[in-house]
Parts: sequence; C-alpha cells; structure tokens
Amino acid sequence: MSKHFDLIAIGAGSGGLSAAERAAEYGMKTAVIENNKLGGTCVNVGCVPKKVMWFASGIAESIHAATGYGFDVRLDHFDWGKLIAARERYIKGINDWYANYLADSNIQHLKGTGRFVDARTLEVDGIHYTADHIVIAPGGYPIIPEIPGREHLITSDGFFALKQQPKRVAVTGAGYIAVELAGLLNGLGSEVSLLLRKDHFLAGFDAMLRETLMEEMVNAGVNIMPRTSVERVEKTEDGTLTVHCASGIKLEGFDAMICAIGRAPNTAQLNLAAAGVNCDERGYIPTDEFQNTNIPGIYAVGDVTGRAQLTPVAIAAARRLADRLFNNRPERRLEYENIPTVMFSHPPIGTVGLSEEAARQQHGDAVKVYQTRFTAMYHAVASLQQQTAMKLVCVGADEKIVGVHIIGMGADEMLQGFAVAVKMGATKKQFDDTVAIHPTSAEELVTMR
Ligand code: FAD
Ligand code: NDP
Repeated sequence: MSKHFDLIAIGAGSGGLSAAERAAEYGMKTAVIENNKLGGTCVNVGCVPKKVMWFASGIAESIHAATGYGFDVRLDHFDWGKLIAARERYIKGINDWYANYLADSNIQHLKGTGRFVDARTLEVDGIHYTADHIVIAPGGYPIIPEIPGREHLITSDGFFALKQQPKRVAVTGAGYIAVELAGLLNGLGSEVSLLLRKDHFLAGFDAMLRETLMEEMVNAGVNIMPRTSVERVEKTEDGTLTVHCASGIKLEGFDAMICAIGRAPNTAQLNLAAAGVNCDERGYIPTDEFQNTNIPGIYAVGDVTGRAQLTPVAIAAARRLADRLFNNRPERRLEYENIPTVMFSHPPIGTVGLSEEAARQQHGDAVKVYQTRFTAMYHAVASLQQQTAMKLVCVGADEKIVGVHIIGMGADEMLQGFAVAVKMGATKKQFDDTVAIHPTSAEELVTMR
C-alpha cells in the first residue's frame, strides 16, 4: 500500500470528512486519520444526540399541550434507558454508514492518533504517511475549570453517557450547551438549576432573544441563578453533590452537575512545532480567509480555527477548500459573515446577522428596528404561556436587513430561508412585498410595521 496521498485530513468529524470527501470526488487519493468514532463531535456527542434529546423533550411538552386540545392524556412514565438505546442505535447507523461510505469512495481510514513528523509527513501508530496537502480538523474538547471537586463534574460528553436520568441537576455555563441541556432536561422532568456567573446567558446574542428565553425558562420551571460562580464541588456520603458558590451560598442534593463553559482545541497531541504550524496561546490555529495556515500546503478547518464552532461551518469551509485546491476555483472560500444559527432551547432561537446592539455600534442612527411579540396560536389554544418574539434589524434609507432574530415555536425551521434573504441583501420592502403564509408565526416576519 502506498503511503503517499494527495490529501490527508486529521480528524474524521464534520470538517475532515468533508475535505476528504470533496477531494475524493475530484479523483484525489485521500485519507482521514481518526482515533475515535467516525463522524466526530456532531454525530457522536454533539448536534445529533442533542437533537434527539430535544425532540424527546418537545414530545413531553406536546403531551402537556394536548390536554388543552381535548386529549385525555397524562405523562405517567418516561423511560430514559429506552430513549438512550434508540438514540445510540441511530448514531451507530450513522457511524456504519460513514465506514461504508469511506470504503466505497476509496478514502483510506487511518485508525489512530495523527501527529506531525514534518510539514509533509504524519505519523499514525508508528507508521509514516505523506501528503501534498494536509487538513487539520481535530475539533475540540469540553473544558472543566480547575476547582476543587472538578472530578465530580461531567461535561456534555458525560451527559450523553448518562445511563439514568438525573433527578436533580446543576448546570454551570452560559452558552449554547448550558442553555440547551438545561432546557431539555427540564422538559424531560429533571429539576434543573442553571448557575450563571454573570447576570445573563448567551452574551453576544440580541437582548430580545436572551431576555425572552430567560423568562420562558423560568416560567417552565428552570431555577436560574445569576451571579453564581462555582468555587468548589463536594460529593457527600449519600452520593449527591454539594456546590459551594463564591457568594457563600451552598446548593445541595444534586445527582449530577454539568459543566458547559466552553471548549478548547485538540491541538496538544499534534506536534505542530515539527511542521512549523503556528497556534495561538489557547491552542487555536489561525488561518487566512482561504483556510491556509502559516505553512504552505497545511490548512485548518472547523472548531480548531476558533471561528463559529458549528458543523455546517466546518463542512462549508472544508468543501470550499477542496474546490479551490482540486477543482481550479482559486476564489472559493467561506464567508464568515451572516452565518445563521439555531439554539435548540425551549423555545428555540433562530438568529442571523447583527444583533441590535452590534448594529447600533456599527451604524449608529442609521439603524431601524421592527419587532413583535405574541402568543402563537398553538399555545393560545393549549392555554400554555409561551411567547414568540421576532426582530428585524435594518440599516440605511433602503432599510437593508442586517439581522433577523426569532424566538418561539418553529424558529429552528423558520430561519434557513430568511438567512438566504439576508445573504442576498434583502430590504424591509422586499420582505413586505412577499405574500404572507397564513396562518403561521413566520408570516409576522413579512408583515411587521
Ligand atoms: P469534530 O467534529 O470535533 O471532529 C474532530 C475529530 O478529530 C474527532 O472525531 C476527534 O476524535 C478527531 N481527532 C482529534 N485529534 C485527533 C488526532 N490527533 N488524530 C486523529 N483524530 C483526531 N453545531 C451545530 O451546527 N449545530 C448543533 O446543534 C450543535 N450542537 C452541538 C452540541 C454539543 C453538545 C456540542 C459539543 C457541539 C455542538 N455543535 C453543534 C458543534 C459541532 O459539533 C462542531 O462545530 C463540529 O463537530 C466541528 O467539527 P470539526 O470537524 O471541527 O471537529
Ligand atoms: P460557549 O462558548 O458557547 O459558552 C460558554 C460560556 O460559559 C461562556 O461564553 C461564558 O459566558 C461561560 N463561562 C465561561 N467560563 C465560565 C466559568 N468558569 N464559569 C461559569 N461560566 C463560564 O460554549 P459551550 O460549551 O456552550 O459550546 C461550545 C460551542 O459549541 C458553542 O460556542 C457553539 O459554537 C457550539 N454549539 C452549537 C450548538 C448549536 O448550534 N445549537 C449547540 C451546542 C454547542 P459568560 O462570560 O457570559 O459567563
């Protein structure tokens, strides 16, 4: 077997698989190095298992709503083990599909941990492989703070490994993962405390989204504790966890504590110095707009670049890179502006473009905002309190739409089409000229005054 390739990707997650796949489509000889399950974070301990749990939590919500619609149903029992088994079967199917796909596409799967020997050579399990092009796509891992009792904390990885539903859970963190896991656990019937070190979560998101989500989570029963920094965690004799906070407060009786305070890049094992590849003080690999690192022929995509840590971003950057390298399209690159994103919270958030705050910083008085808040028909009939809120952030005399922010049922599926419009530079008038679809929540986005 030849050990020289046109392209080798380090990591068979969203970015590495996409780079290898696209390069193989162009007839290149490619390989991916992977030391864990195929599919990476998204498939195994990220988007996919999270979304299954979010669906489950949504079903519990629907059962509560059903009584308002005249159904005589009660939620008596929920079998966590059955849900986890179904989820893992589904994921195993994706892992297997990838294995077959790699074999069918003639992409070599090099099993083991990859590290640089020099700028053209990688070592995997003692064997050296060379490539003209190397794509670094090793993703990241969840951070646990250096506090006493840190060994009692679990991260999102540990959450997905839970064999039993924790009845009382503390979640620390203020980003996507903290909000999503706190919401879905609450929906599934766990008693959840969300400990924020500041006043709010989701820094950087539009204030309307943050504030509405906080109200909705509190209404749904999540115990949100602002200004609660965790100093120490201790395991008591009965096996439960006690959380000691900087404020002096002691919180007792948790079955599990989930730490979701961000992720760090998987670069320590790569021996980047042997290839001369630069990384920053946190380990992220800086690239130019074409995903080039400082060393010719070595590129980085996905979470390891520290930019917009989302699966479709890793995929898009990798595919464009392969188009550029192997399909004679020198201009191909990912534009990192206006990336739509969804928070699978309860209720979900869909957002693209500038928040009102960011727009006002950039464009001052040229900003005009349209917003609405209402109870969606579904919730009104079910007699459930849940708000939907929407905001359009516009700039200039032609009211170009630079931000679309939605929270409420259906926001997750609503956003994609509106993201196309924002990317095309749509104006408020063009939104208004689009005939509404009735009765939907989305129609508010084209009828706002
Ligand atoms: P990864 O998918 O992490 O792949 C990297 C791979 O490289 C891994 O399989 C790893 O084992 C392997 N590897 C690392 N080092 C080496 C080495 N030296 N040798 C060999 N193999 C190595 N994004 C969304 O868009 N939507 C979501 O809903 C969403 N939900 C998420 C939920 C959670 C709980 C988490 C943690 C993340 C979520 N994300 C979501 C983010 C998304 O999973 C990541 O942005 C995406 O997986 C990044 O892809 P990647 O290719 O950069 O890295
Ligand atoms: P994030 O970076 O999104 O958020 C972590 C937040 O936790 C920080 O912003 C900070 O907020 C807070 N924090 C940091 N340190 C501490 C600390 N010591 N104690 C308490 N709070 C702390 O990280 P996540 O782990 O939530 O997610 C990682 C990334 O994965 C996301 O950024 C996203 O890109 C991706 N992801 C995407 C999803 C999606 O698309 N739906 C879902 C899940 C993850 P503050 O400074 O305000 O306290």
